[in-house]
Amino acid sequence: MTRVEVAGVEVSTEHFIGGERAGSDTTFTDISPIDAEPVAEVARGGEREADLAVAAAQEAFPAWGALGTAGRAEVMHRLADLIDANVERLAAVECADMAMLLRSLRARVISRGARNFRAYADLAVAYEERVWESNGTRNRVVRRPSGPAVVITPWNAPFMLSTWKTAPALAAGCTVILKPAEWSPLSCSLLCDLVAEAGFPPGVFNVVQGIGEEIGAALTRHEGVRRISFTGSPETAVHIGTAAARNIVPFTGELGGKGPLLVFADADLEGAARKAAGQYDDAGQVCLAGTRLLVERSVEDAFLELFHRFTDEHVLGDPRDDATTVSPLIHADHLERVEGFVERARANGDEIVRGGRRREDVGPLFYDPTLVIPRSNDSEIVQREVFGPVLTFQTFADEQEAVALANSTRYGLSGIVYTGSEERAERVGRGVRAGTVWVNTFLVRDLTAPFGGVGISGIGREGGDYALDFYSDLKTLQILDGTTA
Ligand code: NAD
Repeated sequence: MTRVEVAGVEVSTEHFIGGERAGSDTTFTDISPIDAEPVAEVARGGEREADLAVAAAQEAFPAWGALGTAGRAEVMHRLADLIDANVERLAAVECADMAMLLRSLRARVISRGARNFRAYADLAVAYEERVWESNGTRNRVVRRPSGPAVVITPWNAPFMLSTWKTAPALAAGCTVILKPAEWSPLSCSLLCDLVAEAGFPPGVFNVVQGIGEEIGAALTRHEGVRRISFTGSPETAVHIGTAAARNIVPFTGELGGKGPLLVFADADLEGAARKAAGQYDDAGQVCLAGTRLLVERSVEDAFLELFHRFTDEHVLGDPRDDATTVSPLIHADHLERVEGFVERARANGDEIVRGGRRREDVGPLFYDPTLVIPRSNDSEIVQREVFGPVLTFQTFADEQEAVALANSTRYGLSGIVYTGSEERAERVGRGVRAGTVWVNTFLVRDLTAPFGGVGISGIGREGGDYALDFYSDLKTLQILDGTTA
């Protein structure tokens, strides 16, 4: 078995298939964004490993489904407890692998994984079948687990997102094949050790490592798969959706965003400006971020002054340091992509009012928090997701223009609204086209609420019963009245 030491923690670089570690003939190099140096050579799966993992998930499926919600909940609660007991190790590995701030990982992000397993396990147990009488029959809606599910996740927040997606699948009775992103594969590998320790039967939870176009594609076109759940970019979703369609397999996509952050003159300006500057956290590599600042013209100057003041407070640095607020970008290719957006904006005549350059003085993969005033709303920098520390700034005259600007991209994942008016909160909150709109707050999540995107930001909904329904085949059971005692 191949293990490496990452941030003082031993992590397997192999797949986890049928409860066993398994290697591949080839590997890929995993880089730490902290210093852009290799951390591990990780197994690079392909068609063969996809076949093995799906076979293991198929074999384990009948017994896992038959265990019932209470039996599954017991195992899932054990896993949640183990995650809580291993926060430090998981946080250290994820920080080295992905460069999310260590203090956030320790304080809340990793334990969110434990919460995901507990919440979905309990929700599945609490499910009450809908029962009603009609046409002389007793009707019932029965949830049946649908079969092996493929879960494909992106490189940002890899641990939290993987648990968010696999927990409902497991609670519903599906077996899982998880493929983490190749830029941050290690925290999910560590999770497999905890899965084994928690006592999951072999084959219920499998992890395969590798490149999206290779093992990811092999999994999504596999005929033995009954559900595909994907989080990543809209571009990749097109490939996955096409593969899913060929086998008539339901698929959900939680995709990219270009969220508006609307600030009305009646808002707590300081709170809004602080939150706007906070969109640079995690180097802006957050799908839900409000990256288009839309501010009522009458408070433009006051807002910008506060915004610059709060942005000046950011500290770029090592994500393991408590003082750091902005970490490096994930990979040199991604840094180049982010830089490409800003350079094209410059060439387009958009005004770069702050940042707009690499920060090699801090480390090889840092980019300065950047603010762009676009020449027009059609500018690429307004219309396409950058997924880095780059925000745009535009103003509006009134509520109508604010909502029109908010809804003027093809995305629709999230929106943030700052206003002091209850009526406006309702009107604008309903008017903004997005899966989630926060008013005077951000990133507060109730795990039972639906989560997903509108437009190219997503297809389907996860969260709560919506996710449990997705991983189930809903059956209508009708029994003729008076025929059974
Ligand atoms: P990506 O689409 O490049 O990759 C995501 C995953 O898909 C990776 O595991 C990758 O290996 C795999 N993949 C790539 N090509 C594939 C193929 N042909 N078949 C099967 N799998 C394939 O996305 P990324 O760069 O890892 O992540 C960033 C994107 O994810 C951004 O757009 C971001 O907004 C989005 N995201 C969305 C949410 C959400 O909840 N809506 C959350 C986090 C990230």
